[in-house]
Amino acid sequence: LAQHFLDRIAASDLNAFLHVDTALTLEQAAAADARIAAGTATALTGIPIAHKDIFVTRNLRSTAGSHMLENYVSPFDATVVDKLAQAGMVTLGKLNCDEFAMGSSNENSYFGPVRNPWDKSAVPGGSSGGSAAAIAARLAPAVTGTDTGGSIRQPASFCGITGIKPTYGSVSRYGMIAFASSLDQGGPMAQTAEDCGLLLNAMVGFDDKDSTSLERQPEDFNRDLHQSLQGLRIGVPKEFFGTGLAPDVEQAVRAALDQYVKLGATLVDISLPKTELSIPVYYVIAPAEASSNLSRFDGVRYGHRAASYTDLDDMYRQSRTEGFGAEVKRRILVGAYVLSHGYYDAYYLQAQKIRRLIAQDFAAAFEQCDVIMGPVAPTVAWDIGAQSDDPLANYLADIFTLSTSLAGLPGMSIPCGFGQGEKNARRPVGLQLIGNYFAEAKLLNIAHQYQ
Ligand code: GLN
Repeated sequence: LAQHFLDRIAASDLNAFLHVDTALTLEQAAAADARIAAGTATALTGIPIAHKDIFVTRNLRSTAGSHMLENYVSPFDATVVDKLAQAGMVTLGKLNCDEFAMGSSNENSYFGPVRNPWDKSAVPGGSSGGSAAAIAARLAPAVTGTDTGGSIRQPASFCGITGIKPTYGSVSRYGMIAFASSLDQGGPMAQTAEDCGLLLNAMVGFDDKDSTSLERQPEDFNRDLHQSLQGLRIGVPKEFFGTGLAPDVEQAVRAALDQYVKLGATLVDISLPKTELSIPVYYVIAPAEASSNLSRFDGVRYGHRAASYTDLDDMYRQSRTEGFGAEVKRRILVGAYVLSHGYYDAYYLQAQKIRRLIAQDFAAAFEQCDVIMGPVAPTVAWDIGAQSDDPLANYLADIFTLSTSLAGLPGMSIPCGFGQGEKNARRPVGLQLIGNYFAEAKLLNIAHQYQ
């Protein structure tokens, strides 16, 4: 199995993988075989997996898509990597992503864009673009991703695969190179909800090395897969269907909602009135946290150091100037600005207050419905290069995924069709499922019934 995927990876031209070590993979596969022969296998033993290059690994480089960490090798494995290895999974390699997970198209990677396997002139989404492309092109049967404001759901949508971001705090952040710590959450991406559930079973768990890790009762996330959806109340937020939503995406999403009605669900009109504010709120809070997290990359403790400089300050400046890409610098500047004296109250504190109101909107909505559904993104995947010079266009495209992250709720993307027209007919559409806290098993049930 490992050899099959290694061969496919070697033959692929998508730029999805950044690091592969064939000998290491085959060694792990042999160990898995031995475990299967010994009768100590779990459901995941011997199944290959690839990790977003934001999870640190002892045996492979961990670049976070950045020149800053181009040659960085971690002295330890991320908890997620470790847990999946403990389950017997075999690592295929590390996957391309936007630099420090900042982006929606994978074009912010220092190592070049990833191509969307459905249409190689399209972006795969981001920041977990390599992860989504690898699943869609069947270069790996399972991958990890991270989602700070949509980076599991949006690339899953653009590549026609399934991905779930669990409730914030469920999956350990230890060894996940930090972007915005109050939002960052790892999760699985695969072909189906059932596969995601199996992976989630192995990934979730308290970790005392992550200060925001949750203590959850162990549960089988796939236990309810076959439950009927009779009587399920689906909240349809009107703000997710307003101007800006492409008609072809709306049509695919509405067709999926109709299918749910046939499966016994009822649609409930709901409102998430602060949806529009999620963009300014997120793009204050995430850069603020990023500016703090990325201060560790100073040319001394990690990564790139400039070859020539005059004094210590200049060494910091040159190393960071050379090591970081444009989007990362933009966010550090915005973050440092909103946290600075005199602006903190006007921007950062305001954003935190609205963040709370966004969570309250969801709490009110979940009194009327069991799950919320809508599009993942306003459009299908765009062309590579089409908006790479327009950060604002990219930020606006995050409108439907950011609020879930700000509230810490679990969210999922499942494929629900394709766009329309000569070009878009080859570009997938994702349906977003948003659940209440700890409702992952319900989300997987709802997704599985559709699939
Ligand atoms: N697109 C969003 C951003 O650029 C979300 C990224 C993410 O979830 N890591 O910040």
